[in-house]
Amino acid sequence: MRKVLSIFFFIFVFSGCSSVPVSNPEVKEEASVVENSAVEKKINLVELQDSFFIPILALHHVGNPPASLSDSAKTWYISEEKFENILRVIEDNDYTALSMTEFLDFLRQKKIPEKSIVLTFDDGAKDFYEVAFPLLQKYNVKATMHIMTGVRGDDWLSAEEIKEMHDTGLVDFESHTKYHAYLTRISRDEALVELQKSKEYLESILEKQVEVIAYPFGLYNEDVKDIAREAGYKVGLTIKGNIEQKSDDLLELHRIIITEYSNIEEILSIEEVDKMPKL
Ligand SMILES: [Zn+2]
Repeated sequence: MRKVLSIFFFIFVFSGCSSVPVSNPEVKEEASVVENSAVEKKINLVELQDSFFIPILALHHVGNPPASLSDSAKTWYISEEKFENILRVIEDNDYTALSMTEFLDFLRQKKIPEKSIVLTFDDGAKDFYEVAFPLLQKYNVKATMHIMTGVRGDDWLSAEEIKEMHDTGLVDFESHTKYHAYLTRISRDEALVELQKSKEYLESILEKQVEVIAYPFGLYNEDVKDIAREAGYKVGLTIKGNIEQKSDDLLELHRIIITEYSNIEEILSIEEVDKMPKL
């Protein structure tokens, strides 16, 4: 006989309408297993251990790189087809793509949805709005963009675009400093300003708390983590490539850089994800 008591919450999936509040998913105890349907998705929560496994992907550009770019700069681009394939694999394998705000909420509760994934983008390039965002809407997958808030111009997201995407509930915005700072190489005061100003800017246009920093160039050390903590950040993201995370050191969570040659099926097939104890 099937175990009848399970803890789960529902995420309501409205195709073409993504203005559903996301920050406090309702947690319910139910006496029976509810079938998945077009509008409800059953998600098991797993208890967060000292060491836990969740893939946090780091992307930059989606689309065709300008021909004038160097070969190394082109590696920061993945094709539209590649990105769509990632979204399809997430959907087909019943992964739950969490926004950073949701992820942080779950970390505070010490539990996360089984088969979670977090999609992050760095820098704030315009192609995110033009290419990636429509695909996120098509698949109803959430992502987080880390903005370097001091950089402006035609190649970068405007405040209006940031606000528009944020208001859909699909895209979360967090910090990537103001000017893409080398946080390990500048003075403590300069680093603090970089971290504080970008946070303040996003908080002012989005009316939300910004508590996650993606360290530019992946550069961080214990001093940088301290400064980030002082500036009010709760989570710091590296690009070390692990999926194993430590729950007592949230200012050092690791991401996997995604390139055109990354194998998303391989990343998701890492068995430890399924070994986490169920509540
Ligand atoms: Zn960057």
